[in-house]
Amino acid sequence: MSKKKEGLYVVFTGAPGCGKGTQARILKERTHICHLSTGEMLREYAQKDTPLGRELKAALDRGEFASDEMIIEMVKSRIDEDDCKNGFILDGFPRTMPQAEVLEGLLAEKGIKLNCVLEIQVPDEIIMERILGRYACMKCGAGYHDKFQKPKVYGVCDFCGGTEFSRRKDDNRTTVENRLVNYRLLTYPTIPFFERQGLLKTVDGTGTIEAVSKKIEEILGR
Ligand code: AMP
Repeated sequence: MSKKKEGLYVVFTGAPGCGKGTQARILKERTHICHLSTGEMLREYAQKDTPLGRELKAALDRGEFASDEMIIEMVKSRIDEDDCKNGFILDGFPRTMPQAEVLEGLLAEKGIKLNCVLEIQVPDEIIMERILGRYACMKCGAGYHDKFQKPKVYGVCDFCGGTEFSRRKDDNRTTVENRLVNYRLLTYPTIPFFERQGLLKTVDGTGTIEAVSKKIEEILGR
């Protein structure tokens, strides 16, 4: 086995809408560690006008998971890239037990030890309200919410001045309900798996974005 690598290796997990993406982006800003969101990778892939692209888009729109094989291939090649050499924040992966087991083997092979798996806990009622109200600037990707985080000037992005915004196609009630069912059925079993390895840390994700990121900072000690 190769020598153990020092760096920051974190998994963000939790139900859809718990704030994984937002918190992973904040941690990336602070640490400059690579942020790997499998959801973002898939949304990009689903824009391709190919049979696989179209099939994937339909699956994501219904709130279904992509296949383990596809996701595992994507993550395997992505973490070998240069910008991951000092660590990575995995956001949305692993999402199933087979993915968790492959990740465990992959990291052992590379001599990488996860610092922790951070589960952001948010009750379902809050999740629905958060997801149904969220939208993002189309120019810089900054996230907003109809109720909780409006831009300072109506219709203008606080960060880049962009004036066009979009909502995710899978952020509708029926799809979110499906995503929550899939989370419970397929992703939740990975939590005790990581707990048994002593890697699990939980954080209450119901506070403000700043309060949650402060707690995460304390847990990670950076
Ligand atoms: P997210 O941006 O993390 O909410 O992911 C959006 C959607 O992409 C999910 O609802 C799943 O359909 C799909 N997805 C993201 N990550 C994975 C994964 N690791 N395995 C399977 N499907 C995934």
